[in-house]
Amino acid sequence: MARWILHVDMDEFFAAVERLDNPALAGKAILVGASARERGVVATASYEARKFGCHSAMPTGEALRLCPHAVLVPPRHGRYEEVGLQVREILERFSPAIEPLGLDEAFLDVTGSGRLFGPAPDIAANIKATIRRELKLTASVGVAPNKFLAKLASDLRKPDALMVITPETVQATLDPLPVRKIWGVGPAAEAQLAAMGIRTIAQLRVAGEATMERRFGQSGLHLLQLARGEDARPVVMDERAKSISQEVTFATDLADLRELRAVLLRQTEQVARRLRRSGLRAKTVSLKLRSGDFVTRTRSHTLEEPTDVTDELWSVTGMLFDRWWAAEACPLRLIGMGVSQLTAGGQLTLLPPPHREKRQRLDKALDALADRFGPTAPRRGGSPRQDREGD
Ligand SMILES: [Mg+2]
Repeated sequence: MARWILHVDMDEFFAAVERLDNPALAGKAILVGASARERGVVATASYEARKFGCHSAMPTGEALRLCPHAVLVPPRHGRYEEVGLQVREILERFSPAIEPLGLDEAFLDVTGSGRLFGPAPDIAANIKATIRRELKLTASVGVAPNKFLAKLASDLRKPDALMVITPETVQATLDPLPVRKIWGVGPAAEAQLAAMGIRTIAQLRVAGEATMERRFGQSGLHLLQLARGEDARPVVMDERAKSISQEVTFATDLADLRELRAVLLRQTEQVARRLRRSGLRAKTVSLKLRSGDFVTRTRSHTLEEPTDVTDELWSVTGMLFDRWWAAEACPLRLIGMGVSQLTAGGQLTLLPPPHREKRQRLDKALDALADRFGPTAPRRGGSPRQDREGD
């Protein structure tokens, strides 16, 4: 299943924010960092300063020797966080599947966003235009079938870049690049590879698996995968959007097993449907139960593989509930279920077993009915009392 991943990276972020807030800095070489007297290092160098060899993590004193006319600005992290959140809010309009990397970078899985926003390169252009229009800042965006290639793409033509790598152009893009462009190849690995006569990704790609494994162990094989442009890691969402749940508080405590299970089934269906609508899958299923005396219990179970299939989520929810009921059944004031450890994108590892395909077809059919008929649409067996439900 083809994925589309975006890597959005704000250009010279801290320096750009300083320029935004102080137009007198326009066109000037800017170094954001603590002073040399405080033994500071450069957090961000503007492109004008980079022309003189300044870069981030360099001691401020050294940067000022290279570029004596640069304006040194002390960092204002609170302000960068504020603008970072504004960027994040723009990204969230295009996909819920966001993995932030620090304040000014993020991966987005837009595989499921196509129906609303068009092809991935259009989404990237749209994001760049929105950031420019609303925040007066520029971002570089890489568009590719995986995280490694998307990050590489955003970096290749910085600043203000929009670079697309398609499955067809992966190898031609990678081959001429030096091996250090591969994520995780630092100076030490670069030197070791150079000693083996491997300088470009093309040369790395044809190095035998046996050779690479002998020299670098597992990470040698991993390097070969990256050299081929392969990277199956999912976009992992952070705390902010980490779970989806439903719960209901009853007007009077409910002790009827069949009714309780029916409420839970309905909640599971709703949660699963929200997962599918957002192109997400969940690994952990949790149950929340509160008895009349306000004691709250939670139970959870983590699956081997994340899923968005209603029946698979229900089999876990139902199992957790039945176990609790067998051990300590009592009237409930509140019942709820939720999912967490969410990941974006289609099934990456195994081919779906045939029974899963059948369940996915059923989910699709029921989703379509729910879209058309709303709450009165047909659904799985078991019908909870409507008057007791609430979201
Ligand atoms: Mg950046």
